[in-house]
Amino acid sequence: MKSERTITVVGSVNIDLVVEMDALPQAGETVLGKTFRVTPGGKGANQAVAAARLGARTEFVGCVGDDEYGRTARRNLIDQGVGVAGLRTVDDHTGVALIMVDSEGRNMISVAPGANRRASGAGGRAIGAGGYDIVVTQLETPYEPIRGARCVILNPAPAAPVDVDGVDVIIPNEIEAEQLTGCADPADAARALEAMGARRAIITLGADGVWDRELKPAFAVDAIDTVGAGDTFVGGFAAALALGVDDPVRFGQAAAALQCTRPGAQNVPSRAEVEKFLAAPP
Ligand code: ADP
Repeated sequence: MKSERTITVVGSVNIDLVVEMDALPQAGETVLGKTFRVTPGGKGANQAVAAARLGARTEFVGCVGDDEYGRTARRNLIDQGVGVAGLRTVDDHTGVALIMVDSEGRNMISVAPGANRRASGAGGRAIGAGGYDIVVTQLETPYEPIRGARCVILNPAPAAPVDVDGVDVIIPNEIEAEQLTGCADPADAARALEAMGARRAIITLGADGVWDRELKPAFAVDAIDTVGAGDTFVGGFAAALALGVDDPVRFGQAAAALQCTRPGAQNVPSRAEVEKFLAAPP
């Protein structure tokens, strides 16, 4: 059964082109890759897929181009149960991320945002006009302060100085929190974000868990791929709010931990899998 409350994710949608290789190239060098895969990505799309897979009614607002990648990205959102009435096709190319990964998991990434640069105004429905329930947004698309929603969640990634007044929950990772506030200590960074106008700051700390007024440790799992952990935490936290789950931070951390045990940024567990995990955590 889907949630009563609706999550609207306003954000980016990309196609990731991933080549794995022994060593990353130097400027001007060509190296032969070992594997190649095309996967759906973009922080907005990842967070929307996470929320939908975890059982929340989820709508996506963003832009793709009139090209094969755009059709693939749209189909993927639909297949994952995300509403696409707010996904516009515009006269630009679909956002693409070129990702090179070496044998030790280090990466080099170049993103061509394309259509994502046009993703504002909530697909024709002015975000500023309100009427939204839970809105989740990031900074891979042009940022517009969101007014009139019951709950605004901002994942400020990549970090950029924006007006956080009116944001109910800001969820940066440790690096973004430091970039936004100049504070390396998560407690200080959280206080600074709240002084800037965000009602609540939750800072994700990778395998250490999250800072949410206190340290809340992560679940101990055998992580094999942590790409997208932050997106799953944000999507999971929002889904938990929509579903009326008791402890949204714990639910988000469980969803993210489970996703870290699987390959792929959109390989998100179901609500039932998260609940089973929470009933008997490792
Ligand atoms: P981002 O992907 O944005 O850098 P983080 O790496 O901070 O975000 O991860 C987000 C959340 O995912 C963490 O707060 C934690 O709950 C969970 N997580 C990340 N890495 C691990 C891990 N190795 N084991 C368990 N949970 C993890």
